[in-house]
Amino acid sequence: MITDPCSHSVIDHPGDTDHSVAIAQSSRTTKTVHPESGNRKTVDHQRIERAVRDILIAVGEDPDREGLLETPARVARMYAEVFSGLHKDPSVHLKRVFTENYDEIVLVRDIEFHSMCEHHLLPFSGRAHVAYLPNGKVVGLSKLARVVDEVARRPQVQERMTETIANMIEEALGARGVAVMIESTHSCMTMRGIRKAGASCTTSAMRGVFRENLSSRAEILGLIMNPSR
Ligand SMILES: [Zn+2]
Repeated sequence: MITDPCSHSVIDHPGDTDHSVAIAQSSRTTKTVHPESGNRKTVDHQRIERAVRDILIAVGEDPDREGLLETPARVARMYAEVFSGLHKDPSVHLKRVFTENYDEIVLVRDIEFHSMCEHHLLPFSGRAHVAYLPNGKVVGLSKLARVVDEVARRPQVQERMTETIANMIEEALGARGVAVMIESTHSCMTMRGIRKAGASCTTSAMRGVFRENLSSRAEILGLIMNPSR
């Protein structure tokens, strides 16, 4: 059992069969309106600059001292970059598919990502493992990494990020099964609050046979957790 650093809710170990069900139910009931639903407005740099200047004043700094003069503009450019996924539809990367008879698991492990926790606007970073069981359609492996990257570049919570990636792949490829597991460390847990360096947070989302069939689920979890076996 792992405690989520942001919401303090308890996240079951990915091996626990109830995990993905619990997450799916909670996301249904909260009805979060999120960038995942699509926001194509552009970034207002000047507005961020004004806000950052205000924050500097509010914390007791002098935004006009030399070292801070360029900071509001830098932060605006940084936010435009780390939130660039707000203005993209990651599913476009899954549109170009190839027809193949291959019907075994496709797994891409260790996709590095960097995201921003939406509760504190602090980074969380880690690795995503993405697997699917094709149903006649396969996609370029790098496209899966692109989807992870763009979904990560939004104000996020790790649980929703995991679900969003799984849903997108299931929908675009009509896959017989999809498994997404994300392992990360959250700055909001290591540099503030309870300050537990090294604590990691694992989430998983299972679809299709990986959700319904216990042996398929065990097989994919084994491949993700012990790749050399
Ligand atoms: Zn947080």
